[in-house]
Formats: sequence, C-alpha cells, structure tokens
Amino acid sequence: MTVAKHLPDYENDCGWYKNLPKRQPKASLKGAISADIVVIGAGFTGLAAARRLAQLAPEKHIVLLDALAIAMASSGRNSGFMIDLPHTLNSHAYTTDTKADLNMIAFNRSGIAYAKTVVEEHDIACDWSESGKIHGATSATGSKSLLDYGKGLETLNEPFSLLSQQQMQDMTGLDYYHSGVFTPGTVMMQPAAFVQGCADHLPDNVSLYENTPVTQYLWGTARGTKGTTNQSPIKPHVLITPHGQITAAQVLLCNNGFAQNFGQQKGRLVHVCTYGSMTGPMNEDQQQRLGGQKSWGLIPSHPAGATIRRTIDQRLLIRSVFTCNPNLKYEQSKLKSIKAQHENSFKRRFHMLPELEFEDTWGGLLCMSNNEASFFGECQPNVFAAVCQNGLGIARGTASGKLLAELALGHHSELLQQQLAQAGPSWMPPQIITNLGVSATIALHEMRAGKEG
Ligand SMILES: Cc1cc2nc3c(=O)[nH]c(=O)nc-3n(C[C@H](O)[C@H](O)[C@H](O)COP(=O)(O)OP(=O)(O)OC[C@H]3O[C@@H](n4cnc5c(N)ncnc54)[C@H](O)[C@@H]3O)c2cc1C
Repeated sequence: MTVAKHLPDYENDCGWYKNLPKRQPKASLKGAISADIVVIGAGFTGLAAARRLAQLAPEKHIVLLDALAIAMASSGRNSGFMIDLPHTLNSHAYTTDTKADLNMIAFNRSGIAYAKTVVEEHDIACDWSESGKIHGATSATGSKSLLDYGKGLETLNEPFSLLSQQQMQDMTGLDYYHSGVFTPGTVMMQPAAFVQGCADHLPDNVSLYENTPVTQYLWGTARGTKGTTNQSPIKPHVLITPHGQITAAQVLLCNNGFAQNFGQQKGRLVHVCTYGSMTGPMNEDQQQRLGGQKSWGLIPSHPAGATIRRTIDQRLLIRSVFTCNPNLKYEQSKLKSIKAQHENSFKRRFHMLPELEFEDTWGGLLCMSNNEASFFGECQPNVFAAVCQNGLGIARGTASGKLLAELALGHHSELLQQQLAQAGPSWMPPQIITNLGVSATIALHEMRAGKEG
C-alpha cells in the first residue's frame, strides 16, 4: 500500500477562476464503487485522457477524480499559451536534432487539434484565439537570442516574423521592447474556462468526482505481458479517498508532480512554483492610452523574464518569479512580496497606466525535470502515467493524455510509437543537493533576466 505524502492544497483561488461565472463542483466520492478504468487528476492531461478513453471504449465505465475543484490547480492557474513549437524554460535554443524537434511540433499540434475539437463540439467559451505569440527582447543579448531562435525556426521550415521596436510597439502598445519574433501557431485561451468547459461536457460513460483526493493506493497485480492488452488482472487496483474507495482494473496517473506520491519518477522530478498577477478590465480610456492590438501574448527572450498578456476581456496579466517548492506547496506569506515584484515589472512597461492595479496574485506548481523530459508510458502492469509536463503542459498534457488513453486501450499509431520512444526524466542528485542547485539556478537566471523580469 502507498500513502500519499503530499496532496494538492491551494489556499487562494486565482484571477482566471474568480472571473468566471460561479460553478458548482461535481460531488465528491462517498462509498465504495468500481470502474473499468480510473484516471487520477483532472487537469489538461487527465481531462484529455478520460475523454479519449470514453470515446474509444464507450462500453467501459471511466472514473475521473481530482483532489480539488476543477481549475483550482495548475491547469486553471497558468498563462494560457497553448504552444505548438518546442519551447523550454531553460533556453530558447533548439536541440540539434531536427527530427526530434519536428516530432515535438507534430505532438504539440496533435494536442492543439484535439483541444479544438472539444471547444468546437461543445461551444466552450474559453476565449480560444489562434492568434500566435510574440517573443520580446529588451537588450542586445535578448535580441541576439531571438535572432538565433529565428534561425532555428528557419531550419525547421516554420513560419515566423522578426519585429522591430516600432512593430513591437504597434502590436503591444509598449515602447519597452527592442525587438521581437512572432510565431503564428500558438493558441491563447482562458485556461480555467477551458478545463471547466471540458469537465462539464465529458462523455456519458465518465463519472467525475471533484474534491476527492486519492490518499492511499493498494496496488493490484496482473498476469500477462506488460505493454500489451493481454494482461488479465489477478487483483484489481484499489484507490482510497477520504470518504470512499474505487476498485479498478486499470489506472491512469495524470496528476503531474503528485505522481511522485505513488512512487513514480522518484528522484527525477523538480517542483517549482511560478506566479501570476492580473488587473481588472481596462476601460475605454485606458485601452486608448495603451494602444496596440486588442489582445496579445508575449513571452520574454530570457527564460526567467516576465510573460505578459492582454486578454480578450481587456485585463493585463504578468507571470514571473520562480521558487523551489519540494513539498509541492508554495508559501502563501510570500505572495505579498511577489505581488510587489510584479507591480514593479508592470510599472516599467505600462507607464501610461499608473492607476491600474492588480486584482489578484496567485502561484501554481510546475513539475520539471533536469532534461525537460516528461514521463509517458506503462509504469506497472495496468498502471499508465503521463506526468512531468514541465512548462508546456497545456499542449503537451492534452496530447499525452489523449495518447495515454490510446496506449491503455491497446491502440497503435506512429505518434504513440514516437512518444513511447522518448527518453524520460533524467536522474538527479539527492534532494538536498537538487534543492540548493535549483534555488541557485533560479537566483542566477533572475539576475541575468535584468529588465525582462
Ligand atoms: C503560473 C503558471 C503559468 C503557466 N503558464 C503556462 C502556459 O502559458 N502554457 C503552458 O503550456 N503551461 C503553462 N504552465 C504549466 C501548466 O499549467 C502545467 O504544465 C499543466 O497544468 C500540466 O497539466 P496536468 O494536467 O498534467 O497537471 P495539473 O494541471 O497539475 O493537474 C493535475 C491534477 O491532479 C490532481 N491531483 C494531484 N494529486 C492528486 C491525488 N492524490 N488525487 C486526486 N487528484 C490529484 C491535482 O489537483 C490537479 O488538478 C504554467 C503554470 C503556472 C503555475
């Protein structure tokens, strides 16, 4: 039996969540039930996995569980960039392996395409916008790294445009950026609205339980060959929750860094938090003073810089600052000083809007690995996992959740084979050394980010 040591626990909700119409979460699990397949975690990954399982196996009963209400965890707290291109938080350099980059693009785009079918089929109001993303540089070094980025895109035959300072100002209204790059394939969205919409339109053979953490796991056993559908359960898996339990033949772990609770990828995952602040909606006068296009999303040239968004409902968002959080929870007491850092970054960029204030500041977890890889595959007989989505979990999580369902049901495709062939998260030194290393790297990166922070 494995007991979950860390459970998701956010004391505050976030701006995306608060700005949505109030939603009644689905009931938590009470009593003992059984299911064919259980999916743990209802973020981007788990929602895609549960939907795909239900589509491919309408005769099976799928149970989807989340420890919190939908959109309360990272899937509802992120900046809403569904990115198609390879993108790392450590550097903008591409690997020299063009084939791997092209595979990654095809994979991310499969996630975007799947998400789009759900949005269109159910008319999910999540400000879905195929508007691309801008990268902005504030220094000669940043401009150089964007030129390198452009060269990488050329090699991949991917479209992009280089932007001058004037073009950056025309797009964003900001005179802050020296240069930029625009890439057209990213979709921008309201992430909390997307995941709530997906959760509220699940196929009929999926039962969703919210506020239902899996606290203990009694592992089942199976006879047959791992990695095939010829595994007959000898003893099913049993998942214990605070007021119930579920017995199931197959389990899909889609709970990102919390999979570590169930013994997965031990010593290979890094848990960091990053933070967002959002203003109220700008009035007409404020929109005029800012100028630029009505909505856009900007990623810094330096990985520790600030991501900025102007949303469709005319709010301004800033996402920056990283902290090392090995206990999978950020310190609430730090939010005040992080908000002050965000205010400082905001005032430097939006000097034409001195009166505009943040309504909300929040943090959220990222599960990272040293080599930026995710884990995808069957980790024990009839237990499958798609976890450690790094900073790209919106597209990557959706794509891997969908493929994980296909793997669990014994389907085959080229994309699935490619995904199974990927290296998983690399091993890291003992935790105390890793924590010191992560904190030092964050401090160094934030210093180097300079004006982009
Ligand atoms: C501020 C911020 C900005 C970001 N911006 C972007 C961005 O613009 N683009 C991008 O691609 N990514 C971004 N990310 C990263 C992105 O949010 C994650 O990669 C993504 O949420 C991963 O999705 P997931 O479904 O795999 O995991 P999660 O969103 O973490 O979902 C896992 C779910 O599992 C549940 N869970 C955990 N343990 C248990 C348990 N024991 N029992 C039941 N349920 C459990 C959790 O409650 C949670 O809902 C950002 C993250 C943050 C914090």
